[in-house]
Amino acid sequence: MYDRRIRESALLLLAKGLSLNAASKELGISRAALTQWSRAPEVALAAAEHGCPRCADPPDLPDRHAYAHLLGLYLGDGYISQLRKGVYSLRIFCDDHYPGLQAEAGASMRHVRPPGKVYRVPGAGCSAVMGLWKHWPCLFPQHGPGMKHTRPIVLESWQREIVEEYPGRFLRGLFHSDGCRITNWTVRTVNGTPKRYEYPRYFFTNASADIRALCTWALDLLGIAWRQPNPRQISVARREAVAALDTHVGPKP
Ligand SMILES: [Zn+2]
Repeated sequence: MYDRRIRESALLLLAKGLSLNAASKELGISRAALTQWSRAPEVALAAAEHGCPRCADPPDLPDRHAYAHLLGLYLGDGYISQLRKGVYSLRIFCDDHYPGLQAEAGASMRHVRPPGKVYRVPGAGCSAVMGLWKHWPCLFPQHGPGMKHTRPIVLESWQREIVEEYPGRFLRGLFHSDGCRITNWTVRTVNGTPKRYEYPRYFFTNASADIRALCTWALDLLGIAWRQPNPRQISVARREAVAALDTHVGPKP
């Protein structure tokens, strides 16, 4: 997403009579974007004003790395609500035992919406990381009335593209909001000596079949084996699968 300053200087160069090719070379901006801006300068400047990549003309993608993470958090334990004057709040609920998780959620929110302030709203044992913006529904079109498991949750093609590019970030968001990593252990006697063995495993629990399917799709993208031990739960338990997921998720920070 190009900021207003860049857009203004591009429009200025074009107004001075610089060719599209020359302006494109000078600013490192594609000819296609420059053509769009010169055809509708007001739209181009307004798009920079609200900072929404999806309302930009042509539509753009948000910061993909941060977005994949925030999308996972949103689908796991995030809520969008309409406030006054067309402003929406995006709240991601994070257990107070994991301050690192709150910091990470805030960082991803800030990257997806650079000029916005991120708030921490304390609750009973659980704080909400919150951002206010008119355009949250543009970035999370899954927003709708009622609980997520009561309606279909289908990603748009641009969202699927981002998850395909960063499945690990998406899974990090999902598992750190609606999942857990637990360690079972057992004692086995090897050569007469009792030895403690630990078995870490992951669980992801969500009431929405669509969201569970998105979780297993992302696991498949990374070639990570999973099982469904009960109707609402996905587990990752095989040693090499846990190790692979650890490189992307790990314990809650
Ligand atoms: Zn928008």
